[in-house]
Amino acid sequence: MAVTEPASAVVPADRPTVAHEGILRRQSLRESAARTYARSLPIVPVRARGLTIEGADGRRYLDCLSGAGTLALGHNHPVVLEAIKKVIDSGAPLHVLDLATPVKDAFTTELFETLPGPLADNARVQFCGPAGTDAVEAALKLVRTATGRSGLLAFTGAYHGMTAGALDVSGGASDVRVTRLPYPYDYRCPFGTGGERGAELSARWTTGLLDDPKSGVARPAGMILEPVQGEGGVIPAPDSWMRRMREITADRSIPLIVDEVQTGVGRTGKFWAVEHSGTVPDVMVMSKAIGGSLPLAVIVYRADLDAWEPGAHAGTFRGNQLAMAAGAATMAYVRKNGLAERAGELGARMLGRLRQLAAEHPVIGDVRGRGLMIGIELVDPEAAAGHSGTAGQSGAAGESGAAQQAVNAGGSRPDGDSFTGPAPASTALAAAVQRECLRRGLIVEVGGRHSAVVRLLPPLTLTDEQADAVLDRFADALAAAERSPYRQVEGGHARHDTQRYRREPIQHSY
Ligand code: PMP
Repeated sequence: MAVTEPASAVVPADRPTVAHEGILRRQSLRESAARTYARSLPIVPVRARGLTIEGADGRRYLDCLSGAGTLALGHNHPVVLEAIKKVIDSGAPLHVLDLATPVKDAFTTELFETLPGPLADNARVQFCGPAGTDAVEAALKLVRTATGRSGLLAFTGAYHGMTAGALDVSGGASDVRVTRLPYPYDYRCPFGTGGERGAELSARWTTGLLDDPKSGVARPAGMILEPVQGEGGVIPAPDSWMRRMREITADRSIPLIVDEVQTGVGRTGKFWAVEHSGTVPDVMVMSKAIGGSLPLAVIVYRADLDAWEPGAHAGTFRGNQLAMAAGAATMAYVRKNGLAERAGELGARMLGRLRQLAAEHPVIGDVRGRGLMIGIELVDPEAAAGHSGTAGQSGAAGESGAAQQAVNAGGSRPDGDSFTGPAPASTALAAAVQRECLRRGLIVEVGGRHSAVVRLLPPLTLTDEQADAVLDRFADALAAAERSPYRQVEGGHARHDTQRYRREPIQHSY
Protein backbone atom coordinates (compact mmCIF):
# COMPACT_ATOMS: atom_id res chain seq x y z
CA MET A 1 0.00 0.00 0.00
CA ALA A 2 1.97 2.95 -1.21
CA VAL A 3 0.66 6.37 -0.31
CA THR A 4 1.99 8.90 -2.75
CA GLU A 5 3.09 12.35 -1.64
CA PRO A 6 0.45 15.04 -1.78
CA ALA A 7 0.62 18.00 -4.12
CA SER A 8 1.68 21.11 -2.25
CA ALA A 9 -1.30 23.18 -3.37
CA VAL A 10 -3.69 24.44 -0.71
CA VAL A 11 -6.58 22.03 -0.42
CA PRO A 12 -9.86 23.55 0.69
CA ALA A 13 -10.54 22.47 4.24
CA ASP A 14 -14.28 22.24 3.57
CA ARG A 15 -14.17 19.02 1.52
CA PRO A 16 -14.70 16.49 4.24
CA THR A 17 -16.49 13.26 3.60
CA VAL A 18 -19.52 12.25 5.63
CA ALA A 19 -17.47 9.62 7.50
CA HIS A 20 -14.80 12.13 8.42
CA GLU A 21 -17.36 14.63 9.70
CA GLY A 22 -19.24 12.00 11.67
CA ILE A 23 -16.14 10.59 13.34
CA LEU A 24 -14.93 14.02 14.39
CA ARG A 25 -18.36 14.97 15.68
CA ARG A 26 -18.67 11.78 17.71
CA GLN A 27 -15.19 12.25 19.08
CA SER A 28 -16.03 15.70 20.31
CA LEU A 29 -19.26 14.43 21.92
CA ARG A 30 -17.77 11.35 23.57
CA GLU A 31 -14.16 12.03 24.41
CA SER A 32 -12.70 13.85 27.34
CA ALA A 33 -12.28 17.60 27.51
CA ALA A 34 -8.64 16.78 28.28
CA ARG A 35 -7.98 15.44 24.78
CA THR A 36 -4.99 17.19 23.29
CA TYR A 37 -3.69 16.80 19.75
CA ALA A 38 -7.19 16.09 18.47
CA ARG A 39 -8.16 19.67 19.25
CA SER A 40 -5.69 21.40 16.99
CA LEU A 41 -5.42 18.61 14.39
CA PRO A 42 -8.98 17.70 13.37
CA ILE A 43 -8.01 14.91 11.01
CA VAL A 44 -9.02 11.25 10.87
CA PRO A 45 -6.01 9.16 9.82
CA VAL A 46 -6.92 5.98 7.96
CA ARG A 47 -3.67 4.99 6.23
CA ALA A 48 -0.07 5.99 6.60
CA ARG A 49 3.34 5.27 5.18
CA GLY A 50 6.62 7.02 5.87
CA LEU A 51 6.07 10.75 6.17
CA THR A 52 2.54 10.62 4.82
CA ILE A 53 -0.82 10.19 6.51
CA GLU A 54 -4.02 9.81 4.51
CA GLY A 55 -7.20 11.08 6.17
CA ALA A 56 -10.79 9.82 5.96
CA ASP A 57 -11.47 13.00 4.00
CA GLY A 58 -9.19 11.72 1.23
CA ARG A 59 -6.52 14.35 1.93
CA ARG A 60 -2.86 13.54 2.45
CA TYR A 61 -0.62 15.15 5.01
CA LEU A 62 3.11 15.34 5.58
CA ASP A 63 3.45 14.30 9.20
CA CYS A 64 6.11 16.27 11.07
CA LEU A 65 4.59 15.41 14.44
CA SER A 66 5.52 11.70 14.08
CA GLY A 67 3.52 10.57 17.10
CA ALA A 68 5.19 13.28 19.23
CA GLY A 69 8.63 12.16 18.10
CA THR A 70 7.95 8.44 18.31
CA LEU A 71 8.25 7.40 14.68
CA ALA A 72 11.97 7.33 13.94
CA LEU A 73 11.30 5.47 10.68
CA GLY A 74 8.00 7.15 9.88
CA HIS A 75 4.70 5.31 9.66
CA ASN A 76 4.58 1.59 8.89
CA HIS A 77 8.18 1.15 7.84
CA PRO A 78 8.63 -2.26 6.15
CA VAL A 79 11.24 -3.46 8.70
CA VAL A 80 8.85 -2.62 11.53
CA LEU A 81 5.89 -4.37 9.88
CA GLU A 82 8.06 -7.37 9.09
CA ALA A 83 9.26 -7.66 12.70
CA ILE A 84 5.68 -7.50 14.00
CA LYS A 85 4.45 -10.09 11.48
CA LYS A 86 7.31 -12.41 12.39
CA VAL A 87 6.29 -12.49 16.06
CA ILE A 88 2.62 -13.03 15.19
CA ASP A 89 3.41 -15.78 12.68
CA SER A 90 5.68 -17.55 15.19
CA GLY A 91 2.82 -18.13 17.61
CA ALA A 92 4.74 -16.44 20.43
CA PRO A 93 2.62 -15.26 23.38
CA LEU A 94 1.81 -11.55 23.13
CA HIS A 95 1.33 -11.01 26.86
CA VAL A 96 4.00 -12.33 29.21
CA LEU A 97 4.27 -9.82 32.09
CA ASP A 98 8.03 -9.44 32.62
CA LEU A 99 8.99 -13.03 31.83
CA ALA A 100 12.04 -13.80 29.71
CA THR A 101 11.39 -14.45 26.02
CA PRO A 102 13.60 -14.69 22.93
CA VAL A 103 11.98 -11.48 21.62
CA LYS A 104 12.82 -9.61 24.81
CA ASP A 105 16.31 -11.06 24.86
CA ALA A 106 16.93 -9.78 21.33
CA PHE A 107 15.52 -6.35 22.23
CA THR A 108 17.78 -6.02 25.26
CA THR A 109 20.83 -7.11 23.26
CA GLU A 110 20.08 -4.49 20.59
CA LEU A 111 19.43 -1.79 23.21
CA PHE A 112 22.69 -2.50 25.04
CA GLU A 113 24.52 -2.38 21.72
CA THR A 114 23.53 1.28 21.39
CA LEU A 115 24.43 2.47 24.90
CA PRO A 116 27.31 4.84 25.66
CA GLY A 117 30.30 2.52 26.34
CA PRO A 118 30.90 3.01 30.07
CA LEU A 119 27.20 2.44 30.78
CA ALA A 120 26.86 -0.57 28.46
CA ASP A 121 29.64 -2.35 30.31
CA ASN A 122 27.78 -2.32 33.57
CA ALA A 123 24.09 -1.69 32.97
CA ARG A 124 20.77 -2.99 34.23
CA VAL A 125 17.46 -2.49 32.46
CA GLN A 126 14.04 -2.22 34.08
CA PHE A 127 11.02 -2.72 31.81
CA CYS A 128 8.36 -0.25 32.88
CA GLY A 129 4.71 0.39 32.21
CA PRO A 130 4.61 1.31 28.54
CA ALA A 131 4.56 5.13 28.79
CA GLY A 132 7.55 7.41 29.18
CA THR A 133 6.05 8.86 32.31
CA ASP A 134 6.13 5.47 34.07
CA ALA A 135 9.82 5.09 33.26
CA VAL A 136 10.39 8.54 34.77
CA GLU A 137 8.59 7.39 37.93
CA ALA A 138 10.80 4.32 38.00
CA ALA A 139 13.95 6.42 37.63
CA LEU A 140 12.96 8.68 40.53
CA LYS A 141 12.08 5.69 42.68
CA LEU A 142 15.36 3.97 41.83
CA VAL A 143 17.58 6.89 42.87
CA ARG A 144 15.54 7.56 45.99
CA THR A 145 15.93 3.95 47.05
CA ALA A 146 19.61 3.84 46.21
CA THR A 147 20.51 7.10 47.98
CA GLY A 148 17.98 7.02 50.82
CA ARG A 149 17.28 10.67 50.01
CA SER A 150 14.03 12.14 48.70
CA GLY A 151 14.63 15.58 47.17
CA LEU A 152 15.15 16.06 43.44
CA LEU A 153 16.72 18.63 41.16
CA ALA A 154 14.83 19.47 38.00
CA PHE A 155 14.77 22.30 35.50
CA THR A 156 12.58 25.15 34.41
CA GLY A 157 10.64 24.26 31.28
CA ALA A 158 11.16 20.52 31.75
CA TYR A 159 8.56 17.98 30.67
CA HIS A 160 8.80 14.42 31.96
CA GLY A 161 5.23 13.09 31.86
CA MET A 162 1.84 13.21 33.50
CA THR A 163 1.89 10.81 36.46
CA ALA A 164 3.14 12.98 39.32
CA GLY A 165 -0.43 13.41 40.51
CA ALA A 166 -1.06 9.68 40.39
CA LEU A 167 2.06 9.08 42.45
CA ASP A 168 1.00 11.59 45.09
CA VAL A 169 -2.36 9.95 45.63
CA SER A 170 -0.98 6.40 45.72
CA GLY A 171 -0.36 4.55 48.96
CA GLY A 172 3.19 4.96 50.19
CA ALA A 173 3.68 8.21 48.28
CA SER A 174 6.82 9.96 49.30
CA ASP A 175 7.27 13.59 50.07
CA VAL A 176 7.85 15.03 46.62
CA ARG A 177 10.38 17.80 47.02
CA VAL A 178 11.76 19.32 43.88
CA THR A 179 14.23 22.17 43.59
CA ARG A 180 13.81 23.97 40.30
CA LEU A 181 16.99 25.09 38.55
CA PRO A 182 17.36 27.40 35.54
CA TYR A 183 17.73 25.55 32.23
CA PRO A 184 20.10 27.28 29.79
CA TYR A 185 17.48 28.85 27.51
CA ASP A 186 19.66 30.94 25.24
CA TYR A 187 16.91 33.04 23.67
CA ARG A 188 15.13 33.93 26.91
CA CYS A 189 18.05 33.59 29.30
CA PRO A 190 16.93 34.11 32.91
CA PHE A 191 20.29 35.77 33.66
CA GLY A 192 20.00 38.20 30.77
CA THR A 193 23.18 37.06 29.06
CA GLY A 194 22.50 33.89 27.08
CA GLY A 195 25.30 31.98 25.39
CA GLU A 196 28.08 30.17 27.23
CA ARG A 197 27.87 32.76 29.96
CA GLY A 198 24.19 32.06 30.63
CA ALA A 199 24.89 28.33 30.78
CA GLU A 200 27.81 28.90 33.15
CA LEU A 201 25.62 31.05 35.42
CA SER A 202 23.03 28.28 35.44
CA ALA A 203 25.74 25.85 36.56
CA ARG A 204 26.97 28.27 39.24
CA TRP A 205 23.45 28.69 40.53
CA THR A 206 23.30 24.92 40.90
CA THR A 207 26.60 24.60 42.79
CA GLY A 208 25.67 27.61 44.92
CA LEU A 209 22.47 25.91 46.07
CA LEU A 210 24.14 22.56 46.67
CA ASP A 211 27.17 23.86 48.54
CA ASP A 212 25.55 26.57 50.66
CA PRO A 213 24.54 24.89 53.94
CA LYS A 214 21.88 27.58 54.37
CA SER A 215 20.41 27.38 50.85
CA GLY A 216 17.45 25.38 52.09
CA VAL A 217 18.24 22.57 49.62
CA ALA A 218 19.24 19.29 51.21
CA ARG A 219 21.40 16.89 49.23
CA PRO A 220 18.98 15.43 46.70
CA ALA A 221 18.36 11.87 45.53
CA GLY A 222 19.02 12.82 41.94
CA MET A 223 19.00 15.38 39.17
CA ILE A 224 16.77 14.86 36.11
CA LEU A 225 17.21 16.72 32.84
CA GLU A 226 16.47 16.58 29.11
CA PRO A 227 19.51 17.08 26.85
CA VAL A 228 17.22 18.97 24.48
CA GLN A 229 14.02 20.19 26.06
CA GLY A 230 11.28 19.10 23.69
CA GLU A 231 7.88 20.15 24.98
CA GLY A 232 9.61 23.09 26.69
CA GLY A 233 10.23 24.58 23.25
CA VAL A 234 13.09 22.65 21.56
CA ILE A 235 15.95 24.02 23.63
CA PRO A 236 19.26 22.22 23.19
CA ALA A 237 21.49 22.36 26.27
CA PRO A 238 25.07 23.37 25.42
CA ASP A 239 27.46 20.40 25.53
CA SER A 240 29.67 22.24 28.01
CA TRP A 241 26.67 22.68 30.33
CA MET A 242 25.84 18.97 30.09
CA ARG A 243 29.41 18.14 31.11
CA ARG A 244 29.19 20.63 33.99
CA MET A 245 25.99 19.01 35.24
CA ARG A 246 27.70 15.62 35.07
CA GLU A 247 30.71 16.97 36.99
CA ILE A 248 28.60 18.74 39.63
CA THR A 249 26.45 15.69 40.29
CA ALA A 250 29.35 13.20 40.24
CA ASP A 251 31.40 15.30 42.66
CA ARG A 252 28.51 15.31 45.12
CA SER A 253 27.36 11.69 44.68
CA ILE A 254 24.06 12.76 43.15
CA PRO A 255 22.78 10.33 40.48
CA LEU A 256 22.20 12.04 37.13
CA ILE A 257 19.05 10.92 35.30
CA VAL A 258 18.92 11.88 31.64
CA ASP A 259 15.48 11.74 30.07
CA GLU A 260 16.03 10.61 26.46
CA VAL A 261 12.37 9.78 25.87
CA GLN A 262 12.14 12.26 23.00
CA THR A 263 15.80 12.78 22.04
CA GLY A 264 16.76 9.10 21.73
CA VAL A 265 17.27 6.76 18.76
CA GLY A 266 19.06 9.15 16.45
CA ARG A 267 16.70 12.11 16.60
CA THR A 268 19.31 14.75 17.53
CA GLY A 269 22.15 13.54 15.28
CA LYS A 270 23.61 10.95 17.69
CA PHE A 271 21.95 7.71 18.73
CA TRP A 272 21.54 9.14 22.24
CA ALA A 273 21.73 12.91 22.73
CA VAL A 274 24.17 12.50 25.64
CA GLU A 275 26.78 11.38 23.10
CA HIS A 276 27.14 14.96 21.81
CA SER A 277 28.75 15.97 25.09
CA GLY A 278 30.24 12.60 26.01
CA THR A 279 28.14 12.63 29.17
CA VAL A 280 27.55 9.23 30.77
CA PRO A 281 24.45 9.42 32.97
CA ASP A 282 23.75 7.13 35.91
CA VAL A 283 20.20 6.53 34.69
CA MET A 284 18.71 6.92 31.20
CA VAL A 285 14.97 7.10 30.62
CA MET A 286 13.85 5.76 27.24
CA SER A 287 10.53 5.40 25.50
CA LYS A 288 8.84 6.62 22.27
CA ALA A 289 11.10 5.46 19.38
CA ILE A 290 12.49 2.41 21.25
CA GLY A 291 9.09 0.73 20.70
CA GLY A 292 9.18 1.25 16.92
CA SER A 293 5.65 2.85 16.94
CA LEU A 294 4.29 0.69 19.76
CA PRO A 295 4.23 1.45 23.50
CA LEU A 296 7.42 0.59 25.38
CA ALA A 297 9.43 2.29 28.11
CA VAL A 298 12.53 1.34 30.05
CA ILE A 299 15.19 2.75 32.28
CA VAL A 300 18.81 1.72 31.92
CA TYR A 301 21.08 2.42 34.87
CA ARG A 302 24.38 1.70 36.55
CA ALA A 303 24.30 -1.72 38.20
CA ASP A 304 25.36 -0.38 41.59
CA LEU A 305 22.09 1.60 41.83
CA ASP A 306 20.15 -1.66 41.60
CA ALA A 307 19.26 -1.63 45.28
CA TRP A 308 15.49 -1.79 45.09
CA GLU A 309 13.40 -4.75 46.18
CA PRO A 310 11.76 -7.31 43.85
CA GLY A 311 8.46 -5.82 42.72
CA ALA A 312 9.55 -2.27 43.61
CA HIS A 313 8.31 -1.10 40.22
CA ALA A 314 5.77 -3.63 38.97
CA GLY A 315 3.03 -3.35 36.36
CA THR A 316 0.95 -5.63 34.16
CA PHE A 317 1.94 -4.30 30.75
CA ARG A 318 5.71 -4.50 30.81
CA GLY A 319 6.16 -7.27 28.30
CA ASN A 320 4.77 -5.99 25.01
CA GLN A 321 6.36 -8.47 22.61
CA LEU A 322 5.26 -6.68 19.45
CA ALA A 323 6.74 -3.41 20.71
CA MET A 324 10.00 -5.12 21.60
CA ALA A 325 10.26 -6.69 18.15
CA ALA A 326 9.33 -3.43 16.40
CA GLY A 327 11.70 -1.48 18.65
CA ALA A 328 14.65 -3.83 18.14
CA ALA A 329 14.12 -3.65 14.37
CA THR A 330 13.92 0.15 14.49
CA MET A 331 17.06 0.57 16.60
CA ALA A 332 19.02 -1.85 14.40
CA TYR A 333 17.89 -0.04 11.25
CA VAL A 334 18.83 3.38 12.64
CA ARG A 335 22.22 2.07 13.77
CA LYS A 336 23.10 0.15 10.61
CA ASN A 337 21.94 2.83 8.19
CA GLY A 338 23.61 5.80 9.89
CA LEU A 339 20.27 7.56 10.37
CA ALA A 340 21.52 9.55 13.37
CA GLU A 341 24.25 11.15 11.25
CA ARG A 342 21.75 11.71 8.47
CA ALA A 343 19.40 13.45 10.95
CA GLY A 344 22.28 15.67 12.05
CA GLU A 345 23.17 16.73 8.50
CA LEU A 346 19.64 17.19 7.23
CA GLY A 347 18.59 18.99 10.43
CA ALA A 348 21.47 21.46 10.05
CA ARG A 349 20.41 22.19 6.46
CA MET A 350 16.79 22.69 7.51
CA LEU A 351 17.88 25.05 10.30
CA GLY A 352 19.89 27.00 7.73
CA ARG A 353 16.87 27.45 5.47
CA LEU A 354 14.67 28.39 8.40
CA ARG A 355 17.19 31.02 9.49
CA GLN A 356 17.03 32.54 6.00
CA LEU A 357 13.28 32.66 6.42
CA ALA A 358 13.76 34.31 9.83
CA ALA A 359 15.80 37.06 8.21
CA GLU A 360 12.74 37.93 6.10
CA HIS A 361 10.13 37.51 8.83
CA PRO A 362 10.53 39.53 12.05
CA VAL A 363 7.83 37.33 13.63
CA ILE A 364 10.36 34.50 13.82
CA GLY A 365 12.11 35.26 17.08
CA ASP A 366 14.40 32.24 17.16
CA VAL A 367 15.19 29.14 15.12
CA ARG A 368 16.89 26.33 16.99
CA GLY A 369 17.24 22.62 17.33
CA ARG A 370 19.47 19.64 17.06
CA GLY A 371 19.18 17.07 14.29
CA LEU A 372 15.56 16.54 13.32
CA MET A 373 14.21 18.16 16.47
CA ILE A 374 13.54 21.68 15.27
CA GLY A 375 11.76 24.65 16.83
CA ILE A 376 10.68 28.00 15.42
CA GLU A 377 9.76 30.46 18.17
CA LEU A 378 7.20 33.00 17.04
CA VAL A 379 7.04 36.44 18.59
CA ASP A 380 5.13 39.68 18.36
CA PRO A 381 7.82 42.16 17.32
CA GLU A 382 5.42 45.08 17.60
CA ALA A 383 4.57 44.46 21.26
CA ALA A 384 6.69 45.96 24.02
CA ALA A 385 9.76 43.80 24.65
CA GLY A 386 11.81 43.22 27.73
CA HIS A 387 9.59 41.27 30.08
CA SER A 388 10.62 37.76 29.21
CA GLY A 389 14.38 37.75 29.58
CA THR A 390 17.06 38.70 27.12
CA ALA A 391 18.45 37.23 23.96
CA GLY A 392 21.91 35.81 24.05
CA GLN A 393 25.08 35.71 22.09
CA SER A 394 25.28 33.37 19.18
CA GLY A 395 26.64 29.91 18.95
CA ALA A 396 26.48 28.90 22.59
CA ALA A 397 24.74 25.62 22.01
CA GLY A 398 25.94 25.68 18.45
CA GLU A 399 22.36 25.24 17.40
CA SER A 400 20.53 28.37 18.47
CA GLY A 401 20.06 31.41 16.31
CA ALA A 402 19.37 33.65 19.29
CA ALA A 403 21.84 36.39 18.48
CA GLN A 404 20.65 36.79 14.93
CA GLN A 405 17.10 36.71 16.13
CA ALA A 406 17.80 39.35 18.76
CA VAL A 407 17.89 41.66 15.80
CA ASN A 408 14.46 40.41 14.78
CA ALA A 409 13.25 40.99 18.29
CA GLY A 410 14.22 44.64 18.04
CA GLY A 411 16.73 44.75 20.91
CA SER A 412 20.34 45.81 20.73
CA ARG A 413 23.25 43.54 21.65
CA PRO A 414 23.20 42.06 25.16
CA ASP A 415 26.36 43.91 26.15
CA GLY A 416 24.61 47.25 25.59
CA ASP A 417 22.60 48.72 28.45
CA SER A 418 19.71 49.51 26.16
CA PHE A 419 19.04 45.85 25.41
CA THR A 420 15.41 45.13 26.08
CA GLY A 421 15.27 41.43 25.31
CA PRO A 422 13.32 39.36 22.84
CA ALA A 423 9.81 40.30 21.86
CA PRO A 424 6.96 38.52 23.67
CA ALA A 425 6.07 35.08 22.43
CA SER A 426 3.05 34.93 20.12
CA THR A 427 0.77 32.06 21.06
CA ALA A 428 -1.88 33.28 18.63
CA LEU A 429 0.49 33.37 15.65
CA ALA A 430 1.80 29.87 16.42
CA ALA A 431 -1.77 28.55 16.46
CA ALA A 432 -2.48 30.35 13.18
CA VAL A 433 0.67 28.89 11.60
CA GLN A 434 -0.30 25.40 12.73
CA ARG A 435 -3.74 25.90 11.19
CA GLU A 436 -2.31 27.21 7.91
CA CYS A 437 0.17 24.32 7.81
CA LEU A 438 -2.69 21.86 8.17
CA ARG A 439 -4.58 23.57 5.34
CA ARG A 440 -1.49 22.97 3.20
CA GLY A 441 -1.27 19.32 4.18
CA LEU A 442 1.49 19.70 6.78
CA ILE A 443 1.14 18.46 10.37
CA VAL A 444 3.28 20.33 12.89
CA GLU A 445 3.32 20.46 16.67
CA VAL A 446 3.13 23.60 18.80
CA GLY A 447 4.97 23.66 22.12
CA GLY A 448 7.18 25.78 24.32
CA ARG A 449 6.64 27.84 27.46
CA HIS A 450 4.00 30.03 25.84
CA SER A 451 2.81 27.56 23.19
CA ALA A 452 4.55 29.77 20.66
CA VAL A 453 7.14 27.36 19.28
CA VAL A 454 6.25 25.51 16.08
CA ARG A 455 7.98 22.14 16.31
CA LEU A 456 9.15 19.86 13.51
CA LEU A 457 9.83 16.22 14.41
CA PRO A 458 9.95 14.48 11.02
CA PRO A 459 11.03 10.84 10.67
CA LEU A 460 14.77 10.22 10.31
CA THR A 461 14.04 8.69 6.91
CA LEU A 462 13.06 12.12 5.52
CA THR A 463 14.46 12.65 2.02
CA ASP A 464 15.94 15.94 0.80
CA GLU A 465 12.92 16.45 -1.45
CA GLN A 466 10.52 15.83 1.42
CA ALA A 467 12.45 18.27 3.60
CA ASP A 468 12.10 20.90 0.88
CA ALA A 469 8.38 20.18 0.57
CA VAL A 470 7.96 20.56 4.35
CA LEU A 471 9.83 23.87 4.43
CA ASP A 472 8.02 25.22 1.35
CA ARG A 473 4.70 24.51 2.98
CA PHE A 474 5.85 25.97 6.26
CA ALA A 475 7.05 29.18 4.58
CA ASP A 476 3.77 29.48 2.72
CA ALA A 477 1.77 28.85 5.89
CA LEU A 478 3.78 31.42 7.85
CA ALA A 479 3.13 34.09 5.22
CA ALA A 480 -0.59 33.27 5.19
CA ALA A 481 -0.79 33.27 9.00
CA GLU A 482 0.93 36.65 9.16
CA ARG A 483 -1.66 38.07 6.78
CA SER A 484 -4.54 36.56 8.77
CA PRO A 485 -6.27 38.43 11.61
CA TYR A 486 -4.77 36.08 14.21
CA ARG A 487 -4.32 38.83 16.81
CA GLN A 488 -8.05 39.43 17.01
CA VAL A 489 -8.89 35.97 18.24
CA GLU A 490 -10.15 36.04 21.80
CA GLY A 491 -7.91 34.81 24.59
CA GLY A 492 -4.82 35.06 22.43
CA HIS A 493 -5.66 31.70 20.88
CA ALA A 494 -6.52 31.39 17.24
CA ARG A 495 -9.62 29.48 16.32
CA HIS A 496 -9.29 26.65 13.90
CA ASP A 497 -11.25 27.08 10.65
CA THR A 498 -11.63 23.38 10.28
CA GLN A 499 -12.23 22.74 13.92
CA ARG A 500 -15.93 23.26 14.14
CA TYR A 501 -16.37 20.71 16.85
CA ARG A 502 -14.03 22.23 19.38
CA ARG A 503 -15.63 24.21 22.15
CA GLU A 504 -12.43 25.38 23.85
CA PRO A 505 -9.58 27.52 22.57
CA ILE A 506 -6.54 25.54 21.49
CA GLN A 507 -4.50 24.51 24.48
CA HIS A 508 -0.88 23.54 24.52
CA SER A 509 -0.78 19.81 24.03
CA TYR A 510 1.96 17.39 24.96
N1 PMP B 1 9.86 12.70 28.90
C1 PMP B 1 9.96 13.45 27.80
C2 PMP B 1 11.24 14.17 27.51
C3 PMP B 1 8.88 13.57 26.92
O1 PMP B 1 8.98 14.32 25.83
C4 PMP B 1 7.69 12.87 27.22
C5 PMP B 1 6.48 12.93 26.31
N2 PMP B 1 6.40 13.95 25.43
C6 PMP B 1 7.64 12.10 28.39
C7 PMP B 1 8.75 12.03 29.19
C8 PMP B 1 6.40 11.34 28.77
O2 PMP B 1 6.20 10.29 27.91
P1 PMP B 1 4.72 9.66 27.78
O3 PMP B 1 3.87 10.68 27.12
O4 PMP B 1 4.90 8.43 26.97
O5 PMP B 1 4.27 9.36 29.17
